[in-house]
Amino acid sequence: MSESSRFTITAALPYANGPIHIGHLAGVYIPSDIFSRYNRSLGKDVLYICGSDEHGVPITISAKKNNVLPIDIVEKYHKIIKDSFVKFGISFDIYDRTSNKLHHEIASNFFKKLYEKGVFIEKFSEQFYDKNEQTFLADRYIMGTCPICDFNEAYGDQCEKCGSSLEPSELKNPQSALSGGDLIKKKTKHWYLPLDKYEDWLSNWILKENKKNWRPNVLGQCQSWISNGLQPRAVTRDLNWGVKVPIKEGKDKVLYVWFDAPIGYISASQEWGKKQNKDWKPYWLSSETNLVHFIGKDNIVFHCIIFPTMLKAHGDYILPKNVPANEFLNLEGRKISTSRNWAVWLHEYLTDFPNQQDVLRYVLCTNAPENKDHDFTWKDFQTRNNSELVAIFGNFINRVFVLCHKYWDGVVPPKNALEQVDIEVIEKLSFAPKEIGKYIEEYKFRFAINELINLARAGNKYLADTEPWKLFKHDGSKKRTETILNIAIQITATLSIISEPFMPFTSQKLMQMIGAGFKKWTAAGNVELIKNGHTLNKPSLLFSIIEDDKIQSQIVKLKSKK
Ligand SMILES: [Zn+2]
Repeated sequence: MSESSRFTITAALPYANGPIHIGHLAGVYIPSDIFSRYNRSLGKDVLYICGSDEHGVPITISAKKNNVLPIDIVEKYHKIIKDSFVKFGISFDIYDRTSNKLHHEIASNFFKKLYEKGVFIEKFSEQFYDKNEQTFLADRYIMGTCPICDFNEAYGDQCEKCGSSLEPSELKNPQSALSGGDLIKKKTKHWYLPLDKYEDWLSNWILKENKKNWRPNVLGQCQSWISNGLQPRAVTRDLNWGVKVPIKEGKDKVLYVWFDAPIGYISASQEWGKKQNKDWKPYWLSSETNLVHFIGKDNIVFHCIIFPTMLKAHGDYILPKNVPANEFLNLEGRKISTSRNWAVWLHEYLTDFPNQQDVLRYVLCTNAPENKDHDFTWKDFQTRNNSELVAIFGNFINRVFVLCHKYWDGVVPPKNALEQVDIEVIEKLSFAPKEIGKYIEEYKFRFAINELINLARAGNKYLADTEPWKLFKHDGSKKRTETILNIAIQITATLSIISEPFMPFTSQKLMQMIGAGFKKWTAAGNVELIKNGHTLNKPSLLFSIIEDDKIQSQIVKLKSKK
């Protein structure tokens, strides 16, 4: 881990063509939020950014289908997505959008700079043109008969019946999905990023320099892209929805959505600077800054190969220190699918499980698809809530507060002479924050959250072993019970700090219950954190049992939708 204390943390821009689901949350937003909150808690300088990706062909298709404008589609989903993030406590410093005028300016200048430096290759190619609509067509807008299965509504890029990936020219009887009319082929010019020229540099930078720090799944995918030979990639499209190509010959063309979207991180940072009256430059220009991209595995090529090549070609910007991409989360044994409605949508979860965002955050982190695909099941969700959050974490905290209020009127008793059992649990207490921090810095969030619950488990066991509720009955045991309660309260205080990155709502509640006003990670693990004589507030319930019928109705709902 770098010594530098500045972090630019990006989370993949969600595509504003639909709401987001648990797969997105598990893959990108929870890990990036944990990482950001942890580093802030350490006192590091963190800029955590995201925004809606609002360009590209699928949005224009949705607009056509619904007989509205693309802007209407993105307005709708930008709002829904942003609202879900706020309600799940995803602590972005800014949630921007690529339809922002500033973004258009910045993306356009980025292209211009590369153009003026002579980075691009210019190529003519023959593409399908719709004479009725007087427009070139994106692959998705071309329909015809699949050459493989003869399905007659295959798209120019894919047949949805047999799943084959296609080129528009392979379709039999290609027709325009816009006008339904026949198509002609017409010459068009595009600008290409010559990835092949950067192959040696990429290979050295990724496979040698970053070999030790990057995840094996990320390195593996990069290795396979590079060894298959990189090809020049067109960065412009014949389309009218997107960032206009800022040169004369580029009239009626826009930047390819995958060229403009990652620049969205830079423009979101500038928008943040403008709004907060802060300087965005150190976050993107200083070599001291750690740039970290959180993404899903389907975005590896864009964040590890294409965007770094763009940054390198531009010359002003830093490159990512790490790209901790996750694998996929499945749902009840099947791949999550938006089109088949096999998903748990965040806005629906919020309605069905009010004020239980931390439960989902917890379950998705314990089950994060860090090095292979994982499965989310409602049964596992229920078990983890009932037997870990309620029975271990919640139970420990509740016991501590109840004992303290019952026998000491909520006033923290002193710590007296220590016994072996005390020394052992204090060791665990002081070790846990270091261990958890180390795992977070290594992007091993599952291990980290496991150590968090382990500390609560150790607290529970400590109370079960020492049985302070029995000792109260003996007159001579007063000092002993004081010590036990004092230590248990110190564990509670540390839990309130180290649970914050994972379960921010619970942490906040717990901090209010303790009423001591500390937050920094460096304070965690200290056995003197809460002074004796301090008065604890009344406890409130942190977690509650989720009953079988609640889970059953989710399973029924899921199966009925598909
Ligand atoms: Zn087919």
